[in-house]
Amino acid sequence: MDFELNDEQRQIYQYGDSLAQSFDNKYWLEHARSHTFPQELFQQIAKDGFLGLMVPEAHGGAGLGMTEMALFMEGTSNNGIPLLMMVVGPCMSMSHLSSHGTDFHKKELLPAACRGDIQFCFAITEPGAGSNSMKINTLARQKGNRFSLTGEKTFITGADVSDYCLVVARTTPHGDVAKKTDGFTLFIVDLKKKGVDMQRVKVSIPLPEEQWTLYFDNVDLGPEDVVGEIDNGFSILFDTLNPERIILGALCSGVGRFALSKAVDYASERAVFGQPIGAHQGVQHPLAKAKASIELASLMTRKAAWQFDKGLPAGEAANMAKYAAAEAGIEAVDAALQAHGGAGFTEDTGIYELYPMMRLLRTAPVNRELCLSFIGEKVMGLPRSY
Ligand SMILES: Cc1cc2nc3c(=O)[nH]c(=O)nc-3n(C[C@H](O)[C@H](O)[C@H](O)COP(=O)(O)OP(=O)(O)OC[C@H]3O[C@@H](n4cnc5c(N)ncnc54)[C@H](O)[C@@H]3O)c2cc1C
Repeated sequence: MDFELNDEQRQIYQYGDSLAQSFDNKYWLEHARSHTFPQELFQQIAKDGFLGLMVPEAHGGAGLGMTEMALFMEGTSNNGIPLLMMVVGPCMSMSHLSSHGTDFHKKELLPAACRGDIQFCFAITEPGAGSNSMKINTLARQKGNRFSLTGEKTFITGADVSDYCLVVARTTPHGDVAKKTDGFTLFIVDLKKKGVDMQRVKVSIPLPEEQWTLYFDNVDLGPEDVVGEIDNGFSILFDTLNPERIILGALCSGVGRFALSKAVDYASERAVFGQPIGAHQGVQHPLAKAKASIELASLMTRKAAWQFDKGLPAGEAANMAKYAAAEAGIEAVDAALQAHGGAGFTEDTGIYELYPMMRLLRTAPVNRELCLSFIGEKVMGLPRSY
């Protein structure tokens, strides 16, 4: 077992430190407060070659894996610049197209996406099917070799700044399948197509990326838009959902570390009752406990990424990493907030504004309860109640 990063991985991890020289947490916060997508930052990441981290070199990427993508996310989040768009685009959609896309996706879309010329979002959630994605109703009705897509997806991050969306649909309705996991198909939908509409969901969290409801009304799709096998989409779904859990583990670990580093600076300087508050164990121990939680979550995240890259089953570690990192992120930001006293609530420190994002990640994309159910049922063999 080797915990050491190689030179390339260390550089990827440290990229966030150099990026933060020009696009720091203040820059991220300004965009988060105004819900404005940070196009310049995204383009810089594209220019530096990081959008295509998980895309093979033949298709314009760096030919690396989940480990490097997680290191990228942890490194930028360590600096307070956590981008959800990197989750839904480069990690969830572009890597999926690299593994399961058509020639058109690989040769036309991926090189453009690696350059930052086009962007992707990801859509599975529907108003009537969030946690229970088996119940999605968005239907791509097949006519010959073409499909007509109708349905509604909601909370879709970054749909407004995306050109394409990786959509999880049914090609056989829920009621007509023998097994509930049958009948799914994944499509790449060009969001400029006739029949696509969108409306903003006003999410009250400081985030640069906005959420949208997407409406599909008889959108015409062809065989070139199918990702993977028709009706057998479930078999490849976790090649995008496990990476999502892993990269969010990295994001939460990084944001937690960022908050703790700000708290350490503050608690070392701020003197109350004659000495720095960090010397009081009532302040120090919650920070130390959160630090231990963050580092444990980060380790599990790296294990999950390593398993994914090796083609090993990564569900167990990915669920544990996502669960542990979201809880650790909340704990860290809360401890940092308490250590800052009133200053933590000012726009100047921006600590409080990290909290909603960490709290969101307990609930979405896969909520705490479903992670625990996965561990209880699939890992520990306990019976299922739902
Ligand atoms: C800011 C934001 C960004 C998002 N981005 C995207 C995106 O880009 N793409 C996308 O497809 N979706 C996205 N989502 C949607 C997100 O994935 C869903 O909100 C999430 O999956 C939960 O689904 P739901 O909201 O329908 O909750 P529900 O399924 O209604 O669940 C509500 C609550 O019930 C509890 N619960 C549910 N089932 C069980 C159970 N079996 N056992 C115990 N407790 C249970 C959980 O605590 C859960 O929080 C986003 C959401 C938000 C808020």
